[in-house]
Formats: sequence, C-alpha cells, structure tokens
Amino acid sequence: MHFFENFHLSKQKTLLILMAFMFSVGARFLWVDWAYDIGDIFINNGVLMINTNDGYAFAEGARDMLAGFHQENDLSYYGNPLSTLTYWIVKYMGIKLEFVMLYLSVFLSSLICVGVLLIAFEYNQAKAGFAAALLAGVANSYYNRTMAGYFDTDMLTVVIPVFIVWGLIRVLERKNPFDIIIAPLFVLLYNWWYTSGFSLVSLTTLLFGLYTLVFDRKNSLNYLTLALMLIGIASLNFYLKILLILAVYFYVIYSKNKLNIKISFALLFVSFLLFTIMGGLNPIWFQLKFYIFRDSAELANTSFRYFNVNQTIQESSMIDLQIFCERISSSVIVFICSLVGLGFFCYKYKSFIVSFGMLALGFMALKGGLRFTIYAVPIMAMGFGYFVYILLNFFKLKNGFFSAIYALIVLGALYPSIMHIKQYQVTTVFYANEVENLEKIKKIADREDYVLAWWDYGYGLRYYSDVKTLIDGGKHLGRDNYAVSFALFKDQNASANMARLEVEYTQRNFKEKFGTNLNQMIKEYGSNSLDEFLILLNDKNFKTPPKTREIYYYLPERMLDIFPTIVQFSNLDLNTGKKYSDPFFIVFSDEYIKKHIISFSDDHKTITINGEEIELDGYFESRYDENEKLQITSNFYDMTSGFYVIYMRDQGKYLLLDKNMLNSTFIQLYVLENYDKELFEPVILDRAAKIYRLKK
Ligand code: MN
Repeated sequence: MHFFENFHLSKQKTLLILMAFMFSVGARFLWVDWAYDIGDIFINNGVLMINTNDGYAFAEGARDMLAGFHQENDLSYYGNPLSTLTYWIVKYMGIKLEFVMLYLSVFLSSLICVGVLLIAFEYNQAKAGFAAALLAGVANSYYNRTMAGYFDTDMLTVVIPVFIVWGLIRVLERKNPFDIIIAPLFVLLYNWWYTSGFSLVSLTTLLFGLYTLVFDRKNSLNYLTLALMLIGIASLNFYLKILLILAVYFYVIYSKNKLNIKISFALLFVSFLLFTIMGGLNPIWFQLKFYIFRDSAELANTSFRYFNVNQTIQESSMIDLQIFCERISSSVIVFICSLVGLGFFCYKYKSFIVSFGMLALGFMALKGGLRFTIYAVPIMAMGFGYFVYILLNFFKLKNGFFSAIYALIVLGALYPSIMHIKQYQVTTVFYANEVENLEKIKKIADREDYVLAWWDYGYGLRYYSDVKTLIDGGKHLGRDNYAVSFALFKDQNASANMARLEVEYTQRNFKEKFGTNLNQMIKEYGSNSLDEFLILLNDKNFKTPPKTREIYYYLPERMLDIFPTIVQFSNLDLNTGKKYSDPFFIVFSDEYIKKHIISFSDDHKTITINGEEIELDGYFESRYDENEKLQITSNFYDMTSGFYVIYMRDQGKYLLLDKNMLNSTFIQLYVLENYDKELFEPVILDRAAKIYRLKK
C-alpha cells in the first residue's frame, strides 16, 4: 500500500465531515448576522470588528509583519504563531486583514468536527461520530472561545490535541507503520502554536505509554510512536525536531527491521534520554501553577505586596456544577448522557483512554477555573454520540426509524447550544466612535510615544494607534497596574509625576533590567521609604526624569464603569498589602430618578437613596452646548459630608462620589474637563473618549 492510499477517505465519510464542518461554521454566522444588523457601531473599515481584547495583540503582530518592521520594546507580537499565520493568509491569499481577524476562528475551530469524526471512523462508529462532531463544534464553552471575531489561539488549542489523539488511536487500532508520523507531526504543530500545551501533550503521551504497557506490549510500533512523541515534546530546536522525526520515520518505513522490537526499544530509550537531558521532566504541571495556586502569581523580585490581578479575572474563578456541565455539553442532561456513553465507549474501545488527558484538563475547571472546560468538550461529545448509538441499538430500531429518532435526539441535544449561541450577543471590544479616536491618535502620536490607559485598552491602542503602552492584556500584574491606577486615581500633580516616571523607567528597564520600577525610583530619589517617596510626588515642582517622548492619557467614557476596580490597584498600602477603605463611587442613570428610587431636594443640596438622606458638599452638572463643547455648572455647599454629585446630562448619568474620587485625574480630566493647563493639554475631547497630552 502506498503512503497516500493509507489516508484515503470514502465519499460517504467525506460527506459526513463536510456536513458537520459546515454546521459548525454556519452556527458561528448567527452572531455575525446579528452584529451586522446592529450596524455601524460595530463596524470599522467596512468590516465587523473583533470581540476579544487579546485579538488585537495578534492583529498588531500581523500588521507589523505585513509592514516588515516594528519598534524596539513595543511589545508587538511580531512573529507570534497566530500573527504569522494571519500574515501568511493576508500576504499570500490576498485576504483583507480585518476579514482574517473576524473569520479565521470560524473556520479553524470548526476543524474540531473533522478530528472527532476521524477518531470515530477508526472505531467504525460513523453514526456516533457524526452526533459527536455536531455537538463538539457548538458546545457552550467551545463556542464562546472560538466564535466569529474571537481572534485568539483558542481556535486551534483544542483542535490540534484532538488530531494528536486521533493519530495515537489510529496507531493502536490499525497497527500500520505509515500512521506513526501523524501524532508527532501534530505535536510539533502544537508546539509551535501554543507553548503552554506541553503538559497536555506529556499527559497524553504518558497515557499512550500506559496503554501500551497494559494492553499492547508486544507492538513495536507503539514504542516507535512513543519515541517520536518524546522527540516532539523535548525542548530542542524546532527544526532539529522535525528532522529527527522525519529521519526516524523514513528509517522505519523503508527498513526491513521496522517491526524489530529491540530496535524500537533502543530508539525509545535514546529519545527518552534526550527528552530528560533537555529538562523535559522538570516543567510538567509547572505551568498550571498560576491557575491552581491563585495567590502566587507575583514574581519574587519585589518586596511590595501589590493587588493581585487574578482576583479580578472572571475566568479563573470557582464555578458551580451546573455551569460546568453546560459549558462542556450545553445542558446537564446531555452531560450525564455523555458520561454514561463515555463509560460504555471506553469499555468497548479501550484505546480511547489516550484522550483522557484532554478530559482531565477539562475537568480541572472544577478547581482551576472556567477556561479549561473546552478541552473536555470533544471527548464528552464522543460519549454522547455513543450514548445515542447504543440507546437506538438497544431498541433494535429499523433503518428508517433509526434515522428519524437519531435526528430527533441529536437536534434535541443541539437545541440548548443553538439557544445559547443566539443569546450570546457579545459586543465588539471597541465601538466605531472609539476607534475613530484611536485612529486620530495614530496621526498625532509618534510610534515611540506612550499612551497611558487601562490594560483593557492596551492591545487595541497598539493596533489602531500604533503607539506604546504600559500595560495590556498580557502585562497586567499588580506591579504593572499600580502606576497606571495611581495616575488615574490620584490628583493631577501626582498623576503627572507618576506617568512621566513610569514611562521613562519602563523604557530604561528594558535595557538596565533593574527589577520593579518603583523600587528603582525610591532608590534613585534617595527616599527612605515608599511613603516618603509618594509624598514627594504631590509636589508640582517634583523633578521628573528628562522627557524622551510624549505621553498621552486615553480616557474613554466606558472607563466610568470599571473605575472602582482600577482604583483598587493603587488604593492600598504596598508595605503590608492591606487595602485602604474603598473610595465612594456610584454611577446611576436618570431612570432611578424617574422611578423615584433616588431623589434630590429642590436645591440639590441633599440626595435621598432608599429613604436615606445624604447632604452634599457640591453639585455639578455637565452638558454639551450647540458647538459640542462641554459646559459645567458647579455649586459648592458648606457641608462637611464629603459627598458630591455630578450630573452628566447628555449621557443621562449621575455620579455620586467622595472627595478623593472627585479630585482624581480621571474624573477631573474626563468628566469635568478641568485640567491643569501647566500639566495637560487636551488633544481630543470627544464624548466617547478624551485624550490629553502630558506637558511634563
Ligand atoms: Mn509599534
């Protein structure tokens, strides 16, 4: 038999694969249709924008690769695998970058259907496989992380392991030497695509080894496959690994000794040695630490106790059992059927246990957080497919009946997923009017300039404005966020000083590598303690380092909603890690006034919330005049409550806040446009976002 004949698929099987694939693709267009119907607000440059922050990192990398250059230390994802793939598609297929960003996940993630069906074909279980493939493509958590516009590595992080599992199962089921290359090649691909995939691949390799020891000891092909897998995950040069794997493979295929168990053992021994010498055993499980041990994310090179960002990331939080089931199988019933089916399936087809690495990783969600559930999706879906198959066989249904009931059950199981997809109407990360502002910054700012903004906007700013940022979706540890939080929360003097310090020290730190910026500042300014240093920053005449570039503040309206969270990162005593009391800050709409939940006295000197009366120290009202200029009326009262109200008339929003929040740079610059003319210069004063240049 020739090499390619071995991989021939019948027309029927090809058709099943195509149908499942198209279903998965089609389901992802429901969101695209919905979003295009909403219209302009989600559209930039004629194309629907993406809905994941991190996507802009890959997009920035691809944009820079297309341009052929990027700036030193601009944190661009230049050369990143997803950026590179995107670059190839744009460059060699001539597809617009924005289209690739929107649709790549739709097509790549749907390949999961292909992998699931290929596995099922190895067991001659096309019917079970088809149901499984349909479900795997659209199950809740898998959909959420691979929908259209979800431009992230997730689009292949589950697909590739499914193909690895397929390759291993095929070796075990067919015992054909041609097949031993499949899994190792996908391991190499995974290696390139997703560096954190190491633990999953090691676990899968281990399971394959265990299966061999228990059920298939005499098969030399298994040892050869193991050897190739170990080379695949060893920390060696990528190209060297490809060469080694191909060399061993062709030796096996073309040599007469290919079934000699001694030679197989010798090869396995050598590759295991290679794997171990290169440190292969050390990092196993190590990468999962960040998610298992929640509080150890901060690196040890600082004595300060920053606010840990893990505490605010939703995807790492504990989840309850029902959500867990729904994320994996879209409904609790389907989840239970899947478990039962999986039990029977593994009993009948023991080699399927090589997929249990994925299952285990998925079930780690119970401990480690939502993000892991996606790995269990295809494995549990296979369980469901087999459940349907044995159920119908149990009742010995004739062909016509079989098909009808099969279709009914599968549609019933898919129904919750489709409902979920219809309800999952996420918005794009940026709105069109925000992007307009970002594109204006691009024209104003130099590529070496910094834009100070919260990390949510980091990647997007870098993509649309091509500037540098202090924090982003990948750089947001407590120590990174501290300075930006400080600059938004403190008054304008302290803010300006901190912004200049942080930018200049960040730039120096790339070369000098002096640990945390803050420690170095304290040292160089000769302060005895952090507190002493922070007091210096309140001085307008504080001598900041020489200015090497411009700094812009990006203050979007949307930040009003997350401002209390932002404040947490600097509103604490870094020496002890203890939080200061939360500042008072409430945003409410004028609906509350209309519904009489909240009311003001006629003179606006008191506000009543739930029957509780609060005296105000001041009442401000902002509104836009006919020239789209912000007008502020302010009234200060002689009270001592420390509470203020700002009414943003055009947005229909009220802010109830304390003095610290009122004086914060964000509120002064964004809400009131009350900037210190010696420190800041407005560049763009738009409703959606305000951008100031730091004059210091
Ligand atoms: Mn750049």
